[in-house]
Amino acid sequence: MPDVALLALVLAAIVIGYFLGWRDQKKRAAKGSGRLSQEYFTGLNYLINEQTEEAIDVFIKAIDLNSDTVETYLALGSLFSKRGEVEKSIRIHQDLLARPSLTSTQSLQVQLALSANYAYAGLLDRAEAILVDLGSQEHALQSQALKQLLRIYEQQNDWSKAADVAERLRRGHGEQYAVLLAHYYCEQSELALQGNDRVTARRLIRQAFSRDKNSVRASLMLGQLEFDEGSYKESIKVLQRISSQNIRFLPLALPVMQKAFEYSGGSRSYTAFLGRCLNERPATAVIIAMTHQLKSESGEEAAIRFLSDQLNRHPTLRGLNELISFRNSDQAVFSEKLLMLIKNLTSRLVDLKPVYSCSSCGFSGKQLHWQCPRCHQWGTVQPIQGFEGE
Ligand SMILES: [Zn+2]
Repeated sequence: MPDVALLALVLAAIVIGYFLGWRDQKKRAAKGSGRLSQEYFTGLNYLINEQTEEAIDVFIKAIDLNSDTVETYLALGSLFSKRGEVEKSIRIHQDLLARPSLTSTQSLQVQLALSANYAYAGLLDRAEAILVDLGSQEHALQSQALKQLLRIYEQQNDWSKAADVAERLRRGHGEQYAVLLAHYYCEQSELALQGNDRVTARRLIRQAFSRDKNSVRASLMLGQLEFDEGSYKESIKVLQRISSQNIRFLPLALPVMQKAFEYSGGSRSYTAFLGRCLNERPATAVIIAMTHQLKSESGEEAAIRFLSDQLNRHPTLRGLNELISFRNSDQAVFSEKLLMLIKNLTSRLVDLKPVYSCSSCGFSGKQLHWQCPRCHQWGTVQPIQGFEGE
């Protein structure tokens, strides 16, 4: 085992040796005799021969733990775990825990590190057992234990237990856990819906809103639930809130809204709602929805005029694609508008696209550099080939 871990192990050995030497010196001063621990040199010897397993054994046996060397061992354990050598890390932490000389804080630190090892190794039940215990006591590392526990429940998709833990964290740390909690309740609500338990699903959505009143996900779920139960007006009311919660997500709500407006006889109100949204943010999905509304209300020509007008101001590929789908109408006016739009859009795309890219680091730009400005290699920047290139 070469490289970083070995180097760190050697450093750890030096630190441990220093403390051993220091202890021995004190003994010498007291008793008039002594030597630097024989085991220490044995361990160092193993290290030099890259026999890390043996070296760890020897160092762990040799050590008369004191508060300073515990830190060194903890650092070593974390180093092994970062390198994926989790079994070595587990051994170090288990040996540390067996020492009666640990202070209570050190014992907590070692237990947290050990539970992280177990979680990494996929031994989630062992990790959970340690963390449930640590999380139930009041101490400086309690919230860290709860955070680790949260990750384990997330890994297991155990949203109910995750929510319990997050509620406890929220009591201590406030609103940073609110958004997270809303998602946990939504996850549980989805499970309830899969089991056809609408009453529970509804209760969980309410809980999600109680934690995060701007939860788009909860709005989408409740809007769908109301729609499925035939409460179209209620569904519309819920889904409309998304435009103020986070208007970027509004397109996700439009298919259900469109039907809900239609079934409740309010198609014109839907058009008006889309118009208000367009004023705020001209998203392609909203433009396309509006186009469909205009087509059924005022005919194809009005729809084409609206869409090409919007596309001139906010050209997008999806919008253009939609316009081309009107190809069945053979009005000269349509063909001319379409051609001009395609020209407008492709020019913009060409202007936006990089022309050269570096085959070494991926840097791209519109200008040719013989030396790549990012990775500084020579001759690696080349004209881009293919669909978007030459
Ligand atoms: Zn480069």
